Amino acid sequence: MRVELVTVGDELLLGDTVNGNAAWLGRRLAERDVEVTRSVVVGDRLEEIVQAVRDGLDRADAVITTGGLGPTSDDLTRDALAKAAGVGLVRDPALERRLRDRVAAAGRTLQPMALRMADVPEGARTLANSAGSAPGLCVDLPGGPVYVLPGVPFEMHAIMDEVVLPELAERAGLPEVARRTLRTAGLWESVVAARLAPVEAMPGVTLAYLPDPAEVRVRVTAAGDDPAALLAEAEGRVRELLGDAVYGAEDETLDRVVHRLLAERGATAATAESLTGGLIGAELTRMPGSSATFLGAVVSYATGLKHRLLGVDEALLAAEGAVHPEVARQMAEGVRDRLGASYGVAVTGVAGPEPQDGRPVGTVYVAVAGPGSPTRVTRPRPPVPGPGDESRAALRRMTVVYALDLL
Ligand code: ATP
Ligand code: MG
Repeated sequence: MRVELVTVGDELLLGDTVNGNAAWLGRRLAERDVEVTRSVVVGDRLEEIVQAVRDGLDRADAVITTGGLGPTSDDLTRDALAKAAGVGLVRDPALERRLRDRVAAAGRTLQPMALRMADVPEGARTLANSAGSAPGLCVDLPGGPVYVLPGVPFEMHAIMDEVVLPELAERAGLPEVARRTLRTAGLWESVVAARLAPVEAMPGVTLAYLPDPAEVRVRVTAAGDDPAALLAEAEGRVRELLGDAVYGAEDETLDRVVHRLLAERGATAATAESLTGGLIGAELTRMPGSSATFLGAVVSYATGLKHRLLGVDEALLAAEGAVHPEVARQMAEGVRDRLGASYGVAVTGVAGPEPQDGRPVGTVYVAVAGPGSPTRVTRPRPPVPGPGDESRAALRRMTVVYALDLL
C-alpha cells in the first residue's frame, strides 16, 4: 500500500506553522508498513490542491490531505475534492443538523458561512470526528480513495486512528498492531536509543522516540499474530533496560506522577526556585486538586532573597555566589522548614546567556530535602546550550524536569 500526503496551508509554506501533521502521519503510516511515497505542501489555492490530489493518485494507492477544511473563505479543500472528483457540493442534512445543534447548545447564532462545513462533494462519505466539529471526508475515485482531514492536529489524529487507519488496514490486509507510550526523564535521546537497540531488533517491534527537553517518550508498536502479547514483552524489556528513568506511561506526565507519589505517602512539597522563576510551581499546579500535595513556591531570584526568605548562609553566598551545591541544599531545607512541607525542592543555576559568578551557562544544581534521609543534591548535565533566548528557555524547562524527577 502506497500513500501520498498533501498538507494544505499558506502558513506551512511561509514557515509560520511547522508541518507536524506530515511528520505525525509519516510516523503513523510507517508503523503500519504503509509506504509514504511523497509528501507535498501546497498553499490555500484551489488549483494547487486539485493538482496535488490528482498527481498523488497517479502515483500511489491513496491520498491523505490535511488542512483547509474549516468554514472560512481560505478553506478550499472541500471545493478541491469536489473538483478532483468532477462533482458538485451538496449540503448534507445530517451535518447541517449537527452543526445547528452544536451552535444552539453553545447559545450562539449560526453564521451563514459556517454552513459551508455541512457541504460535501456529491457521493463523499463523512468520517466521524470524535474530537471536534469538522468531520473528515472521503471520496473513492478510480485511482483510489482520497481522505480529507482537518488541519487541527488532535482532530486529525482522532479521525486517522479511529477511521482511516482501520480502513486502510482492511483494504491492504495490514497487520494488527498494539502500541504504548512510555515516558522517561533525565536521559538523552541518543542514550535511550542506544540502550534500546535490543528491543529495536525484536521482530515485529518498532520504536519511535519523541524527545522534549530532558524527557524522551518512547512509543512501542508491536505488530503480528498476537500484538498485545508482543507489546507486553517489548515493554518489559524497555523497562528493564531503562530502569527508573521510566517514570510513567501514556498521559501520565511527571507532575501527575509526583502528585500521586506524594499523596500515597501523605506528603507535601514546596519549591525554592531561582533560575526557573516559578516554573516548577506552575508545573505542580497544572492539575486540578494539586493543593492536596503542593504548598507553594518561593521565587528567590535575587541572591539576597535566598538569605532573607530561605535562611541560606550569607557568608556562603558572599564567598561562592548563588550557584553552588551547598546553596541548593540550604534552599531546599529552608523552603521545606519555612513552608512546613514534607519535601523541599530547590534549583539554582546559570540560565544564560551570560555566565554568572564565574560559572558557565548550564551549571545547574537541584536539591531535594525530605522528611527522613539526608538532603540530595545533584548536578544534572544539560546539553551545552547554544546562544540566545531559545537555549535559555530550554535550559529552564530542563531544570523543571530534573527537579521533578529528583523529587
Ligand atoms: P479549522 O476548522 O480550524 O479552520 P482546518 O481544517 O481548516 O480547521 P486549518 O485552518 O488549515 O485547518 O488549520 C487549523 C490549525 O491547525 C492551524 O492553525 C494550525 O495550527 C494547525 N495545522 C494546520 N495544518 C497543520 C500541519 N500541517 N501541521 C501542524 N499543524 C497544522
Ligand atoms: Mg481553517
